[in-house]
Amino acid sequence: MNALLSVSDKTGIVEFARALHARGIRLLSTGGTAKLLADQGLPVTEVAEVTRFPEMLDGRVKTLHPGVHAGLLARRELPGHMAALAEQGIATIDLLVVNLYPFESTVAQADCTLAQAIENIDIGGPAMVRSAAKNWRDVGVLTDSSQYPAVLAELEAGGGLSDGLRFALAVAAFNRIAQYDAAISDYLSAVVFDAAKPFDSHVPVRVQFPGQSNAIFTKLQDLRYGENAHQQAALYSDLHPAPGALVTAEQLQGKELSYNNLADADAAWECAKSFDAAACVIVKHANPCGVALGSDALSAYRKAFQTDPTSAFGGIIAFNCRVDGAAARQLRQQFVEVLLAPDFTEEALQVLRSKANLRLLRIVLPAAGAGCNAIDAKRIGSGLLLQTADNHRLLPGDLRVVTHKQPGPEALQDLLFAWQVAKYVKSNAIVFCKDAMTVGVGAGQMSRLDSARIARVKAQHAGLTLQGTVVASDAFFPFRDGLDVLADAGAVCVIQPGGSVRDQEVIDAANERGLAMVFTGVRHFRH
Ligand code: 5GP
Repeated sequence: MNALLSVSDKTGIVEFARALHARGIRLLSTGGTAKLLADQGLPVTEVAEVTRFPEMLDGRVKTLHPGVHAGLLARRELPGHMAALAEQGIATIDLLVVNLYPFESTVAQADCTLAQAIENIDIGGPAMVRSAAKNWRDVGVLTDSSQYPAVLAELEAGGGLSDGLRFALAVAAFNRIAQYDAAISDYLSAVVFDAAKPFDSHVPVRVQFPGQSNAIFTKLQDLRYGENAHQQAALYSDLHPAPGALVTAEQLQGKELSYNNLADADAAWECAKSFDAAACVIVKHANPCGVALGSDALSAYRKAFQTDPTSAFGGIIAFNCRVDGAAARQLRQQFVEVLLAPDFTEEALQVLRSKANLRLLRIVLPAAGAGCNAIDAKRIGSGLLLQTADNHRLLPGDLRVVTHKQPGPEALQDLLFAWQVAKYVKSNAIVFCKDAMTVGVGAGQMSRLDSARIARVKAQHAGLTLQGTVVASDAFFPFRDGLDVLADAGAVCVIQPGGSVRDQEVIDAANERGLAMVFTGVRHFRH
């Protein structure tokens, strides 16, 4: 059995080579590795001897030779392959131990030059690793010193390596090569920052998300400006956007989409597409100011608009259903920035055409739960916060009634609706609802108590009554005072995660005020 050892990171290699030698395995090696092993008294054959070709070009060409690659790639069960090796006097290589030039740590150094980076791109190592991993049935390939013990353990147990281990090693090898190539491509693709045109480059931006291959973003368009007029901005898209994701929307008419239009349209669309029944979501400054379900677009819109007509002015409106002529005529009464729906009737398109500035977007409605990002990203000072997205869907069976009073079946429906809306409202979120319609939304306050107060005041301003409403709170009530505001306002049922040290105080308050309350056990912070 022949093993080829060629490692840049020489951790543990001497001990590993010694153990191989003790099992009668012949050691082949490249310059630096061979020297180290020989210095430690191990019998080692230089690859140059096998290839009958010296290392050349300062080590750029060491193992790139048929004498090595045929020995790695020959399929042992094919007589033709073995005869070809014999004819050329090439021996099989059955175990490959390679770790690559330290590209990643080299470019991580602040003073790394392009020339140094380039010189640290390993060519022959990955080539050998790929050959060995491709031929995993016959060759064991080690790409990290952490793998030495498992391989030794199997060799010690007698015989060669198991199919299972060789396959796992091959998978790890291809993963490592993919990672290595991504690091090279990331480094070389680094956008050259031009202060005048920061987003001018069309070079894809790569982000390594945990547990996934690289996410690659490509530029879709420059935006006129960012959140404010003095900021520059551009829109990027996943290389393979999910069907029904906002970036796949088709603009049918209207002014150019702005940075804020896109952010708000996304918030509205994410909420609208989360409902099964016909839904309308009106968003302002990233928060829903009216959400309702109906039998069609018109009825859902009428209800959603009623929640907060003042805020709805200049809103971003998303439907998860077809917009017909009747809905379009109603919508025309209002100033709308962006209108988003899976479908518009011809009549609706005609009605809306008269509003030339209105940005009209058509977007595919994905199957329930589909088309959601798996990973959320948020920039912080010199860093990126990543998390799996909040795609939790509450089922009726998850609810735990914690009060003497039980919610009736209609209240239960409204509780689930309110909870679903609260998920899309910035924390602290308090959402009053009745008959599948929001009647008061308190968003983005630093105290839950204030969110409750604001939701109540907004309902009053809209001339709506909160008598008999249900309320969702995106996180637990730290004290009973927030709950008292809801009870004073006329709410009869509350849905919230629970989990506060003062849960009992809040439950007692609900019982005292005659409210029904359910716990979800899940929180929906959104910042
Ligand atoms: P050594 O220290 O043994 O001289 O070199 C070990 C390193 O050389 C390993 O990281 C291995 O991946 C790399 N290597 C092996 N063969 C080749 C080759 O033909 N070209 C290049 N550029 N690197 C190689």
